[in-house]
Amino acid sequence: MTPRGAARLVPANSVARALAQVGDRWSLLVIAGAFCGARRFSEWRRGIGIATNVLSNRLAHLVAVGCLCKVAGAGTEGQTYALTDKGAELFPTALMYWRYDRLWSKRHPMQADELIHARCGRSMIPAIVCAHCRAPAFAREVRFADGPGAGMEHLPMPRTSRRAIAAPEDGAATDMLMGNAVDAIGDRWTQLVLASFFLGERRYEQIRGRWHIATNILADRLKLLVANGMLERRLYSINPERSEYVLTARAMDIYPTVLTLTQWGDKWLAGPAGKPMLLTHVRCGAELEPVVVCGHCGGALHRHEVSFRSRQAP
Ligand SMILES: [Zn+2]
Ligand SMILES: [Zn+2]
Repeated sequence: MTPRGAARLVPANSVARALAQVGDRWSLLVIAGAFCGARRFSEWRRGIGIATNVLSNRLAHLVAVGCLCKVAGAGTEGQTYALTDKGAELFPTALMYWRYDRLWSKRHPMQADELIHARCGRSMIPAIVCAHCRAPAFAREVRFADGPGAGMEHLPMPRTSRRAIAAPEDGAATDMLMGNAVDAIGDRWTQLVLASFFLGERRYEQIRGRWHIATNILADRLKLLVANGMLERRLYSINPERSEYVLTARAMDIYPTVLTLTQWGDKWLAGPAGKPMLLTHVRCGAELEPVVVCGHCGGALHRHEVSFRSRQAP
């Protein structure tokens, strides 16, 4: 019998590892804030409407996992933070959350924010393509197999069941880079459940079996994803009555974040064993190396060439 709270082993997976480190709503928003120029405590406080104690906690966490570093000063206000290389390489992921937000947000288009690609000078929606053939990387065209780092491991996911989706404080620019997307899907468990579908799972027992998710958490997230229009429930057996879930078009558009988090996890969290999973782009047959590109000119997007602009309503 497994003692209560003891680590259960799950298949090594770069998305799961990435979500365990940075997949909670506030960590994602703090990182988004850093990409929008936040360096000081007060800038994050203002920018993302985060409570003081939560912000202190997340900054300490992101420093501990090596995504941010302290650069100068001391005390709450004197201290400034900078993205490390590891943190900065979450930029493609931030762009893919922004893309999702842009495609599915209910906001009026005139209030939507813009990303400007300095190289072509255009406002654009970033896309994700295969580095080898430059075709879009769609989930249906990606196969996966065990990589050199495949195996079982403990996944350090917090055992809390709370969704932790809190209402932002009034006036906070929570949509500064990816706020809406993060609100729809931004907790670790919800994203992990979604990622399971891209691994071919459709049924409650399969998902529970893979990740050892507590039944109340899994039931809650499936319900949330159905309510958000990301999953549809379908009967696959009438007697006995059994149902499974399928991803909607809206959920398929979350796949780019799964790919960028995989790439980030492969690089920063896999260790000497190597990638747990190898992805192949079926269209060209090459190992899939996803690249986030400008939707206008097709050029790879580098952080210093992308600027963020908030458009005002007319
Ligand atoms: Zn390809
Ligand atoms: Zn461009």
